[in-house]
Amino acid sequence: MQDRRADHTQTPGRMLRHDTTAIDAKLVERAWDVVIIGAGPAGSTAAATLAPLGHSVLLLDRHSFPREKVCGDGLIPDALTSLRSLGLYDRVKRLGHSVDHLTVVSPAGIHVEIPAECITLRREKLDTLILEHAISRGSTFVKARIERVQQEERGGVRALVAPTGELIHARVAIIATGANVELLVPLGMVVQQRANGMATRCYVRSPVEIDRLIVSFEKEAAPGYGWIFPMGGGEYNVGCGIFYDDERCAKVNLRQTFESFTAAKVARSLMTGADSITPLRGARLRAGLGGAVLFNGGSVIAIGETIGSTYPFTGEGIGKAMETAMLAAQQVHLALEQGDTEPLSLLPALVEEQLSPRYLGYRVAQRWISKPWLTDLLAARICRSPHLTRAAAGIINETTDPRTVFTWRTLLPDWMRIGRWG
Ligand SMILES: Cc1cc2nc3c(=O)[nH]c(=O)nc-3n(C[C@H](O)[C@H](O)[C@H](O)COP(=O)(O)OP(=O)(O)OC[C@H]3O[C@@H](n4cnc5c(N)ncnc54)[C@H](O)[C@@H]3O)c2cc1C
Repeated sequence: MQDRRADHTQTPGRMLRHDTTAIDAKLVERAWDVVIIGAGPAGSTAAATLAPLGHSVLLLDRHSFPREKVCGDGLIPDALTSLRSLGLYDRVKRLGHSVDHLTVVSPAGIHVEIPAECITLRREKLDTLILEHAISRGSTFVKARIERVQQEERGGVRALVAPTGELIHARVAIIATGANVELLVPLGMVVQQRANGMATRCYVRSPVEIDRLIVSFEKEAAPGYGWIFPMGGGEYNVGCGIFYDDERCAKVNLRQTFESFTAAKVARSLMTGADSITPLRGARLRAGLGGAVLFNGGSVIAIGETIGSTYPFTGEGIGKAMETAMLAAQQVHLALEQGDTEPLSLLPALVEEQLSPRYLGYRVAQRWISKPWLTDLLAARICRSPHLTRAAAGIINETTDPRTVFTWRTLLPDWMRIGRWG
């Protein structure tokens, strides 16, 4: 790593704009400790964690904020935990809409009620909040699209700004560009370029009151899933998604799936008489880890959805994007302190250790969902058993490994499970 220590006397917290005019010369001339590309939850969390540790952090995004991000806007417990560690939980709770239950609907329409604290908050608000937090902690933000990140021979990196061609120099680059992996390709950091999922959503206003998050695996949404997330004030985020596990999924027309999901039992009453607030918009998903290499062997690392940190099965990804950012920030801090890239090389193993077991569990769950009759049986069992309802809540709250619930053993009556396995 280039031992060109940047001075830490930057003006704390600056929000600068860069459209097609030349970038502020001072930003180009100086050597930053860290340049972070992408100011979604992953990039801004990394910036908010690194800047207070005394590192000069330049955070870049091709959009100015607030910006729209196509999302379900659901913050499940893992995201709330990360927001707590950043000190943002109270503000998110004040701004968002809180619910204390999640309903999972099986293919045949069995409702499994799971107690879990969740909050919904539009992404333009959430992402701006985390970005502003990063700025208030000393990061500098510039609106700029990065065209290429290059490893410098003597260590360190340079990022090429489009379309003006200025070069930004830094000791470490963090790529957090979401489902867009273009920057990883020339660095040899992509294993699978194609996204492995797609989801679409719109906002509606409806007189029907729903006081919980609903995730539905009804047959009308198959082979995908649908959701209804209340945003407060009679507004709902309604959408559906699919993961391309096989050819059948890749051929699905998601707009048609949305239409059949919203005409089916769970969403029908909400949608009848609902006013559309926004048109349907879709975006790609990278889920389940495995689609990218996290470390280029030099001074570049990747985090968040870029590395597929989003959960397979439900497409929740905000919490996990933030978690990978916190792990990365810790390793970048060590690397900068030691003037050595070795701590960066440990990141893939740390992410694997922390996240893999949960992703494996969600993949198992995804396999079960592909067998609707089995999922119905499981849903019926969970509804009848307080013990299994607690275990299902544990999956959402991350205290239960999903693999312990999505097993044949779960289908046995309680007395048999207790009798045979204690
Ligand atoms: C329809 C849909 C519904 C979803 N619902 C939920 C949900 O309810 N709950 C949940 O937890 N997750 C949900 N997700 C997943 C969630 O949106 C992602 O997991 C999350 O946004 C990942 O955060 P990130 O910071 O890694 O990437 P992003 O949030 O995608 O941020 C990446 C940023 O990088 C910027 N960027 C990209 N390329 C460049 C470049 N070349 N130069 C500069 N900037 C660049 C982009 O402008 C963007 O701001 C949903 C996804 C979809 C598509």
